[in-house]
Parts: sequence; C-alpha cells; structure tokens
Amino acid sequence: MDTLATPQLIDRFGRKVDYLRISITDRCDFRCVYCMAEEMTFLSRAQVLTLEEIYTIAEAFAELGVKKIRITGGEPLVRKGAIELLEKIGKISTLKELVLTTNGSKLTQMSQSLKQANVKRLNISLDTLDADKFKAITRTGDLAQVLAGIDAAKAEKFERIKINAVILKNRNHAEVCDLVQFAIDKEIDISFIEEMPLGVVAGHNRAEAYYSSALIKADLEQRFALLASITKTGGPSEYFNVIGTQTRVGFISPHSANFCGTCNRVRLTVEGRLLLCLGNEHSVDLKQVIRANPGDMAYLKQVIINSMQIKPEKHEFNLNEQPVILRYMNATGG
Ligand code: SAM
Ligand code: SF4
Repeated sequence: MDTLATPQLIDRFGRKVDYLRISITDRCDFRCVYCMAEEMTFLSRAQVLTLEEIYTIAEAFAELGVKKIRITGGEPLVRKGAIELLEKIGKISTLKELVLTTNGSKLTQMSQSLKQANVKRLNISLDTLDADKFKAITRTGDLAQVLAGIDAAKAEKFERIKINAVILKNRNHAEVCDLVQFAIDKEIDISFIEEMPLGVVAGHNRAEAYYSSALIKADLEQRFALLASITKTGGPSEYFNVIGTQTRVGFISPHSANFCGTCNRVRLTVEGRLLLCLGNEHSVDLKQVIRANPGDMAYLKQVIINSMQIKPEKHEFNLNEQPVILRYMNATGG
C-alpha cells in the first residue's frame, strides 16, 4: 500500500487527529454527582447508533489514520453487544490500541472477555476508598464490587490499568494520598481529574468544589517523591513517576493547565454526533450521513476529513457561570 497517499486528519491549527473516543451508550448503572443529574432521561433506541453503525464509523476513522480508539460512555459495559463490538474493532489491523474506560462495576464478569477482545488498557474510575462516600458520590455504586473488579482486571494482565479519580473539595480531596497508596499497592497507575462543567448538576457548586491539580500535587508531595515523566499516552494527562514504585500519577487539568495545544482527539457520541472538542458544541451529524448514504464509505470519510475544519482551537471553561455546555459527561464520552 502507498502509505504516502493515506489521508490524514489535520485541523486548521496543524494538529493531527489520530485518537477517537466513542461513547457507545449514554446509560449507566451509576449516577455520579459530577456527571449526571439524579433523574436523567436517556436516549431512545432510534436515537442511538446501532453497533454496526458504530463499527462502520470506527473503520472509517482507522482508514483515515486513527491509531487509538477508546470505548466509553455512559458505562460502556452496560450496552448489550459491547464485547462483540470491541472484538470487531480490536481486529482492525491498522489500529495500534483499543482501550476502554469503565466504572468497574462489571469487571468481575467481563475482564476476561475484554482481554480476549484485544483491549490493551483499562481506565477504571474510583474516587474514594470509603464505601459510604463511594455510595454518596456514585449515588448507586457499590465500592466492594468495583474493588473486586479491579482485582479481576489485574488478574488478566492488561498492558496497563489506570484509576481515574475526579477530585472535589470537601468530598474526597483529603483522600488523594490514600488513593495513590492504593495504586502503588496494586501496581497500577492513577490520574486525578479536575471537574469539568458539563451539564447542570445539583448538590454541589462546581466553583466551590474546585480542587486544582497543583493542590493535589502539593498534597501528594508531603508523602511521595514525584519525578516528572516524559511518558505520553496520547491523552491529556501530565505524568509523574512515584519514585521507588511502579506507579505513575497523572493530572488531567482542564482548568489549570489547558491541554488544547496538543489535542489529537475527537469524540463520537452515541447519537452519532462527531464532537470536535469536549468544551464546545462544534459537531457534525454522522448518523444522518450514514443513514442517508448507506454503504458509502468514501463519502463518510470525506465528511470526516472536512469536519477537521471546524475543530475549535481550545475550550474555555468558567466554573463561576452556568455551564455553556448543556450536554452531560455521560452523553459526551469522557
Ligand atoms: N462510566 C465510565 C466511567 O465512569 O469510567 C466511563 C464514562 S465516564 C463519563 C468517563 C470519565 O469521565 C470518568 O473517569 C469520570 O470520572 C469522568 N467524568 C465524568 N463527569 C466528569 C466531569 N464533569 N468532569 C470531569 N470528569 C468527569
Ligand atoms: Fe456513569 Fe461514568 Fe458518569 Fe459515573 S462517571 S455516572 S460511572 S458514566
């Protein structure tokens, strides 16, 4: 094959897009306070992409040079047929990495199938090690089930497992050292995430709950020695090695360290919207494109190439104002 002729996805700012995140459902068995409202209305079956449509779009992106696909949600593992979809995407030969973000609730049953489906790395969300706090943050989750899920995933020896923890002041900020110690004990990595203002949530004020990556890092340095790492995983995390351990600590800092300059990713929502930026509404309706032009891969790819022209330069989040972005994280694909 003439690799020079392979089209690439390049935006107006010269950024190459080679990473696609796909939300395969907006549904979830948890209701995390920063992600969803307590009462949510979910999309109907007719509104969401079928698994075949998701696969076709993944294939188109792979043909356009995308090397990494992350499957997310909502909770991806609650969608019927998720494993079969992962298996199919995992067989796309040009893809270097198929990875998954999950809340961990189904990992005791599904880790082995995920491994067999060629999933290389897992991000598992875990904000606290206190069962009552876990219930309060997730509203419906069971900490013991997630901890057992992490152990089940470890037993499958994925290339890498990383904990994702969203830190909120006065809710779980005092636990950052214990979470790192947990990651060290399990020989896995951990990333801390600053909360993003997506959708209107009740129960906490996002400006008051803001706890910056710099504060977390200062807290960690009271107990651990951190050394800046040159590792890049293709995502927005900035990494540090915890000296004397296998563990890396990452910081995803949408507020305090804008990562847009090196953005290499776009998102597909389960409604088929191609979101060009997490913090803006610029999007292209790929569901409409594939339903109006079934089987026309060349046209789908051209629409995707053209969409790069509307990828915004950066996101602007303001915690002191009502969210400008009304879609919730579960509908966005974190
Ligand atoms: N259900 C899966 C999970 O929780 O890992 C995957 C989807 S979830 C939307 C993906 C990630 O987004 C999780 O790590 C979650 O903690 C994070 N997240 C959700 N809402 C967020 C928000 N408002 N700000 C920052 N991160 C958020
Ligand atoms: Fe569900 Fe993940 Fe959102 Fe929590 S963060 S409600 S687990 S989608």
